[in-house]
Amino acid sequence: MRKRILNFNAGPAALPLPVLEQIQEEMLDFKGSGMSILEVSHRSKWFDDVINEAVVRTKSLLNIGDDFHVLFIQGGASLQFCMIPMNLALEGRPVDYINTGTWSTKAIKEAKGLIKDVREIASSEDKGFSYIPKDYNVDEDAAYLHFTSNNTIKGTQWAKFPDGGKVPLISDMSSDFMSRSFDVNPFGLIYAGAQKNIGPSGTAMVIIRNDMLERVPGDLPTMLKYTTFSEKNSMANTPACFVIYTINLVLKWIQETIGGLDKMEQINKEKGTILYDFIDSSGFYKGTAEAGSRSLMNVTFRLPTEELEKEFVAEALKEGLGGLKGHRSVGGCRASIYNATGVEAVNDLVGFMAEFEKKVG
Ligand SMILES: *Cc1c(COP(=O)(O)O)cnc(C)c1O
Repeated sequence: MRKRILNFNAGPAALPLPVLEQIQEEMLDFKGSGMSILEVSHRSKWFDDVINEAVVRTKSLLNIGDDFHVLFIQGGASLQFCMIPMNLALEGRPVDYINTGTWSTKAIKEAKGLIKDVREIASSEDKGFSYIPKDYNVDEDAAYLHFTSNNTIKGTQWAKFPDGGKVPLISDMSSDFMSRSFDVNPFGLIYAGAQKNIGPSGTAMVIIRNDMLERVPGDLPTMLKYTTFSEKNSMANTPACFVIYTINLVLKWIQETIGGLDKMEQINKEKGTILYDFIDSSGFYKGTAEAGSRSLMNVTFRLPTEELEKEFVAEALKEGLGGLKGHRSVGGCRASIYNATGVEAVNDLVGFMAEFEKKVG
């Protein structure tokens, strides 16, 4: 069999090998159904078990109970940019946003098209979004405070989440969801496009606190209301069955093979330390995010010239290391080291980086 590459793609991204193997193994006959999971009815017991298991695993990993609903909504993380203000804004009250890059900017733009009083209470745009802002004042009256927990493109991450006081937090966790443990209780809503850290593309996972559902205006279109999804266990219409099935397997892998989110976090910290320590010790590679704001998921760095960056990405691919090109909007290089990319892959990457530096530096 041809060797699989070490996958540093930003999303869609690497999936755990045991998950891919299980998909392959049960592809032609899912649990004795005589059909693949792609072919069974979403109204069948087979699929019901899958979606229920995914919900139970999510709640168990995040240590949450019946105060929260776990929803699967198509349209990616991007649809949430408009669903959140449509569903959760409150008449006569502001909504607060912290701007830490491309994805926050898009979320703010969507909110501004729908809500009168959108406040950008902090931004790191002054330094090219290379850091996480520390000074901000949350309006006590705000209907919610929105932030992006990990900035996939610029390589920054909130090490400690903002304190909203009584204001419910809302976070786009697309690129670091299930990478670490945290207290979910201050959050009114969390959302994540599946294709970064928990599965293939095709759905977002949305965790919503019960009290938020009371805000949903009755006159919204059916498929844009959170209540449509919470009341029907995400099956008001046909859900992204294969994606949800894969998410369930990824969550099972985190629980049973890794041993939960504390362990996952430990591994992710180890990976980040290996890569950042190497970059810091080299005069050749330069990290682009400020030291206290660095992401453990997307490690962004530059080489001395764009020519060398091109050569680096091409040479790496020849050696079986894929996906190291930075986002097209910022250039440079980026190694996305999500949950499924292990310590060994990061060690191999550092080995290649050292070799490359020796050769051309
Ligand atoms: C990738 C990404 C998105 C966009 O996700 P889609 O599912 O493609 O809409 C939004 N926010 C963050 C933080 C991302 O990394």
